[in-house]
Amino acid sequence: RVQALPGFLAQASHPLRTQGLGEDARRVHAKKNDQTSHHEFHAMSPVRQGDPARALMIRGSPVTGTLEAFARPCLALAMHTHALVLFSGGQDSATALAWALDRYDRVETIGFDYGQRHKVELTARLNVLAAIKARFPAWAPKMGEDHLLDAGILGQISETSLTRDTAIEMESSGLPNTFVPGRNLLFLTLAAALAYRRGLQVIVTGVCETDFSGYPDCRDDTMKAMQVALSLGMDRKLLIETPLMWIDKAQTWQLAHDLGQQADSAQGGQALVDLIVEHTHTCYLGDRTQRHDWGYGCGQCPACQLRAAGFARFQKS
Ligand code: ZN
Repeated sequence: RVQALPGFLAQASHPLRTQGLGEDARRVHAKKNDQTSHHEFHAMSPVRQGDPARALMIRGSPVTGTLEAFARPCLALAMHTHALVLFSGGQDSATALAWALDRYDRVETIGFDYGQRHKVELTARLNVLAAIKARFPAWAPKMGEDHLLDAGILGQISETSLTRDTAIEMESSGLPNTFVPGRNLLFLTLAAALAYRRGLQVIVTGVCETDFSGYPDCRDDTMKAMQVALSLGMDRKLLIETPLMWIDKAQTWQLAHDLGQQADSAQGGQALVDLIVEHTHTCYLGDRTQRHDWGYGCGQCPACQLRAAGFARFQKS
């Protein structure tokens, strides 16, 4: 029965989770993706009493119910106005932050100090935040507290080239030795605990399944499972948003451009791209001495190559 379906399964943003919704619910969803205000979104959600003609499907199974039952979890989305962004200071999380600022009324940020080999990442975070506040007056008032948590315990339990001084290479598992087992699971759990305490209903993360690394803790299935586990374990509906999940690095640059332009029609798009080029940090080796058109980095490590290739494709498009 529809009522038995936990709301958070029905209310997340991925198309998989919206398939089978009735026409109105789909339109509501499309409207939401259209970045309309929450008021408009609310007004767009007709709750029809008893309309048996609208048969609903959940994951391929027909469900006997009415649109009302579906409209309820959809309407709950309208309450999701406060977000917490996992913000590392890299290109992806900076774009995810811009996406959240475009969409939510209040946005806080969280980062983790886990003994990264290079502290430039932590410095980059602060520089990006300051630059966004200075350049985008439409977003500045929405930017809430920035939280930096100590996750040094990861350094105690993992052998990885991100926390130790070893070369980056592929391991027999098929994963690069930059993979820190459980890292993102731990980050999401800590973020959810903080979000709970601060009354933030949405967690936004820049994870991406099309990324070369294929980290299993960044995949869509993992995110969905974490959303369910954290919502159940904290007895609060939590939404994990992953705006970059299905796009590549060139599209990520384009997304940043579009969001910046939307925030400020006077060259805001180029300004946000320039800001991300200048202030975010991606290079695994922590190199800030070499400046390329796509930003700072060694230019050789997998992260630099990915960023450079994506930027080149974005420039050509
Ligand atoms: Zn590099």
